[in-house]
Amino acid sequence: MVKDPVCGMIAKEEFKYEFKGKIFYFCSNLCKNEFKNSPDKYLKHGHKSYHDEEIKQRRIAYFSMEIGIDSSIPTYSGGLGILAGDFIKSCADLKVPLVAVTLLYEKGYFIQKLNAQGIQQELPVQWNRKDFLKPLSNKVSIKIENRDTFISAWQYDVVGVSGYSIPIIFLDTDLEENSEYDKGLNDFLYGGNQWYRLLQELVLGIGGVRMLHSLGYSGIKKYHMNEGHASFLTLELLNEMKRNKDSKLDFEAVRELCVFTTHTPVPAGHDQFPYDLVNNALRGFLPSGVLKMLCGEEQLNMTFLALNLSKYINGVAKKHGEVSRSMFPEYSIESITNGVHSFTWVCDSFKILYDKYIPDWKNDSFSLRYALSIPGDKIWKAHQEAKNGFIDYVNEKTGSEMDYKTLTIGFARRAASYKRADLIFSDFDRLIKIANDAGKIQFIFSGKAHPQDGMGKDLIKRIITASKRLEGKIKVVYLENYDMELAKLLVSGVDLWLNTPRKPQEASGTSGMKAAHNGVPSLSILDGWWIEGCIEDITGWSIGTPQNTQSNDQQDASSLYDKLEFAIIPTFYNGREYWINMMRHSIAINASFFNTQRMVQQYVLNAY
Ligand SMILES: *Cc1c(COP(=O)(O)O)cnc(C)c1O
Repeated sequence: MVKDPVCGMIAKEEFKYEFKGKIFYFCSNLCKNEFKNSPDKYLKHGHKSYHDEEIKQRRIAYFSMEIGIDSSIPTYSGGLGILAGDFIKSCADLKVPLVAVTLLYEKGYFIQKLNAQGIQQELPVQWNRKDFLKPLSNKVSIKIENRDTFISAWQYDVVGVSGYSIPIIFLDTDLEENSEYDKGLNDFLYGGNQWYRLLQELVLGIGGVRMLHSLGYSGIKKYHMNEGHASFLTLELLNEMKRNKDSKLDFEAVRELCVFTTHTPVPAGHDQFPYDLVNNALRGFLPSGVLKMLCGEEQLNMTFLALNLSKYINGVAKKHGEVSRSMFPEYSIESITNGVHSFTWVCDSFKILYDKYIPDWKNDSFSLRYALSIPGDKIWKAHQEAKNGFIDYVNEKTGSEMDYKTLTIGFARRAASYKRADLIFSDFDRLIKIANDAGKIQFIFSGKAHPQDGMGKDLIKRIITASKRLEGKIKVVYLENYDMELAKLLVSGVDLWLNTPRKPQEASGTSGMKAAHNGVPSLSILDGWWIEGCIEDITGWSIGTPQNTQSNDQQDASSLYDKLEFAIIPTFYNGREYWINMMRHSIAINASFFNTQRMVQQYVLNAY
């Protein structure tokens, strides 16, 4: 379909006009004549100036320390980054005028190798940014310890379903003119010591704002900080306004511009820096009294900074909003529950199924509710296809001879100790008895531990040890190097998705939402999103009771075993129709809601 360049309506074959060797089509003679009289007026859209206009129209700047768009761009470590990527994808689908800012990590997070004892080895990721990102010519600098640290940028365009694109600006300090140390600032995500991290966050916050302005993004009305890592942007905005208005620090004006999403329900998880480090880096960027007023007396707390200078603040699930309000009672904190990008996380066999029964699902995640009308045998067949493919993959990788028919339980996420990946192995005798009496089960695990997280690494070792202890009785494998690609295979290729965090530490959790998009029900502790997503025996099963606010390992394990023994295993083997109905409800009730399309709409309405 060709559009009339004058009025933008559909053009017709018969109203054509040749100009400078090119044929133009119009809707009518009226428009054709208008064009003939002043063609220059209507040609300018094809030019560069159109792009510049587009840039200026971006109204929201979204800052995130990590963004995960695709497993081939290794600039993420886990849920936070993938959430950011999914959010941006839905912004592109919905044409939300947003630009995103993050750091470029030349060596990524890391590649995980596990030896026979389950000891994690970390290798740098080899990737060539030139294969994915386009270099921009702009350069800005920030002053660190009185020296100039220069920053350049690369761009990646996320293109939505209707062709609208969202630029992601990756900041890069690996430049000739920088010191060796500064060149390395974008080597690793969450690597190095506190000083390294502080400088990275200065590059992101202060450098990011400067880069946006240098690139011509002049119409930004909201700066959205995805977690506190980006809070330094508020200081740059304060200073910038002061420079422009030649006046005092205008806190209210900055607050008007800022939105803050917190993701961490435990105080220790919030970034803090000693003031001598900060002062040494910033050297009077702002008076130290003002810094302390905004960021706390003892240490510079990035969360306080964001809380104090944001007009809209939110947690990432209803419960997490509550927990955040109790941690920071002086602030007004809302909640917007996380989601995942539907098109990204639905596996191929379910894509085909949805295309057939819910043709509009790619444009409209809410329409996944019509999954209720998909015939059960078709759902089962699509799942079997995903499962068989995944079991083949696992067997090929590990030689573990997993079985196609056995109830397969998946657990994969960052190996952080609060996630208690080994809760299922609390009582070997009971687990073995369940597998013998109630029905066969097998387990597939995956997840990286942060290089400096000894407890996380021990957790991986304990699972590998358990897998050996269970040899010949229950099959357990641990897949190396969990990333987005593997995550998609896992959430669609298992029968049940398990999550056992210690309350109330799971702010939201998103992998269970990915599973729901593939018709996979969850068995999970009632924390984070699952409080909202769990309808017992319909979308999955809960572990423990809603009343318990603190987790007790023993009670949780026993509840987990009860659910497996008395509800899940019997339903899987003897109530297949019922099971398939639960798969259907996971899609219709949960995927239709826990997606980033709904989430972006809430941010646009409430936060922007
Ligand atoms: C979705 C995802 C996560 C986050 O999972 P949670 O359940 O929120 O912990 C982490 N890593 C990868 C690779 C993912 O795809």
